[in-house]
Amino acid sequence: MRDAFERRDADAAGRLGSLSVPRAGVTVETPALLPVINPHIRTVEPSTLEAEFGAEILITNGYIFYKSDEYRQRALDEGLHDLFDFSGAIMTDSGSFQLSEYGEITVTTEEILRFQHDIGSDIGTPVDIPTPPDVSHERAASELATTQERLELAETVDVGEMLVNAPVQGSTYPDLRERAAADAYATALDVFPVGAVVPLMNAYRYDDMVEVVLGAKRGLGADAPVHLFGAGHPMMFALAVAAGCDLFDSAAYALYARDGRYLTVDGTEHLDDLDYFPCACPVCAQRTPTELRETDDETREELLARHNLHVSYRELRTIKQAIRDGDLLELVETRARGHPAMLDGYRALLDGVDQLERNDPVSKGAFFYVSNESAHRPEVRRHHDRLDRLAVDGDRVLLSEGEENSRFDETWRLKPPFGPYPAALSDSYPLTAEVPERLDRDAYEAAAEGVRQLVEANPTVEFTVAHFEWPDDVLESLPDGVEVLALGDDSEYPDSGGQGDARPREANPNGDEPKDEYVDGDEDGQ
Ligand SMILES: [Zn+2]
Repeated sequence: MRDAFERRDADAAGRLGSLSVPRAGVTVETPALLPVINPHIRTVEPSTLEAEFGAEILITNGYIFYKSDEYRQRALDEGLHDLFDFSGAIMTDSGSFQLSEYGEITVTTEEILRFQHDIGSDIGTPVDIPTPPDVSHERAASELATTQERLELAETVDVGEMLVNAPVQGSTYPDLRERAAADAYATALDVFPVGAVVPLMNAYRYDDMVEVVLGAKRGLGADAPVHLFGAGHPMMFALAVAAGCDLFDSAAYALYARDGRYLTVDGTEHLDDLDYFPCACPVCAQRTPTELRETDDETREELLARHNLHVSYRELRTIKQAIRDGDLLELVETRARGHPAMLDGYRALLDGVDQLERNDPVSKGAFFYVSNESAHRPEVRRHHDRLDRLAVDGDRVLLSEGEENSRFDETWRLKPPFGPYPAALSDSYPLTAEVPERLDRDAYEAAAEGVRQLVEANPTVEFTVAHFEWPDDVLESLPDGVEVLALGDDSEYPDSGGQGDARPREANPNGDEPKDEYVDGDEDGQ
């Protein structure tokens, strides 16, 4: 059992937690952002990050210090905390990035880990092999074997209280990511960066990124803190958190600022194209884009970097509150509308619905159906999966979007996207969902899938579906033997005197039937 990471709250696969960093004597709340500090180019001073932005942790490159004539000895003499005037936690990278960029580095895992320890790093990194996307499976597997050797070597290096990263590689192969993660998790190392995803993010391949993360998460225990290495654009934080990432590092805030680029949660703007700032941070509230363009280069770069940090930290706070409120997936779904590639990422996340469903809390505040993707959320899957455990009373059962009908032995509610459920569950999450009046196909199809699962679990019962204007082909997809009744202005239940006239979306929740009649024991209290 690892004790560095504690999960305090969860939503989808996202966690609100804390990472204890013993060498720094601090506890970092996650999800957390680690601004990247280049000792040669300090766009925003680490002490400013701590004082003005509340940064609890940052990351710098141990290999740059190792190679630097200017900083190597100073770092050894003073330590990173004094050098940066920063009292939070400091993570260091090992030079793996330089290895991937330039093909070689001149340091071993043992040397660089000891060096990271000696300059006062709180979380160090071995020299792993960052395998790029789309290489052959064979190459990815072979490089993974080298990375695993380095991790096992790293375990043997005495680094005192310094935590050590165990990077998870495996290119674009979810099976290799899963294996790599399981092997890394089997070591005594502490933090699990999902590596070499920057090329995926730069190419807007958010769906591949999500598949890689979900692969890695399958190999890791719930007590493993996960770092999405190199991920610094706030537009994808919510998606990555929902997939199970806890740490992000951002060089983007400074690199983008250098190019005059302005980060938002929907993407990237260019300062030259802005007439108005869509942001209320101190940088944006106190000047217009024109005024910012007219400042000198150095000031402009720093102010843009500050805006980029403000928007990044604000998004993390928004995400944490969403986890608290249980509406992280609503947030991801909203962010997914900012860019088509983000929508692909969200759809890839929902393709992993079984994996999400295992982590997703059974009860939350409210389910808001905000787009057709909502029909694919884990709560819908969970409802379908439990339909075979809900007792059906009687031989003839009405599944109704309208009112109850006494001609049947029992009436169940019918509500897209969930499908059928006993009236007694009406007040339970997620069946209290707020759903729009004008539904989409995905909602009807998901509801029909619920009907199918209920029919399959109760083969001897005669079911009748009473619906308001479901699409014909969805009705045709219902199992054989299911009767269909159209509700609406001019339709009536046979023998029932026009109970279909009204158009309530839900039947009366205080029906005649006793509340617990349909519910089996383990469904109580949800
Ligand atoms: Zn701003």
